Amino acid sequence: MYIITKEVFFCYGHRLMNHAGKCRNLHGHSVKASISIKAEQLDEQGMVCDFSDIKACVKTYIEKELDHNFLLHKDDPLIPALIANNERFTALNEHPTAEVLSKMIYHYLHAQGFNVDQVTLWETSSASACYREN
Ligand SMILES: [Zn+2]
Repeated sequence: MYIITKEVFFCYGHRLMNHAGKCRNLHGHSVKASISIKAEQLDEQGMVCDFSDIKACVKTYIEKELDHNFLLHKDDPLIPALIANNERFTALNEHPTAEVLSKMIYHYLHAQGFNVDQVTLWETSSASACYREN
């Protein structure tokens, strides 16, 4: 099995409703997503796939859905205030944790035809969450 990994960087704001710790407050993160693509065999160029193809695909998704966006649980009572102030946000069906964002990126790339091994989101330089399906 061959695995290649491409790193992409972006920023987002969020808060974790009902969380006991400081993540219950509005705050933001500047994160790194490490995207690993796998292949049993290499293509005719000796590659799993081109790094630039991963970047081009995920960049479109991240810029549209995540980067400099505010991510909230769909039941967050802040949502009406954001709407009233014409602020950008996305309401998620799940809590906007690093785990959930990893899964969102994984599913997008998988749907675009990439053979994704795992997506790891580094929320800080010492804390990451990973999503994989097998
Ligand atoms: Zn946070």
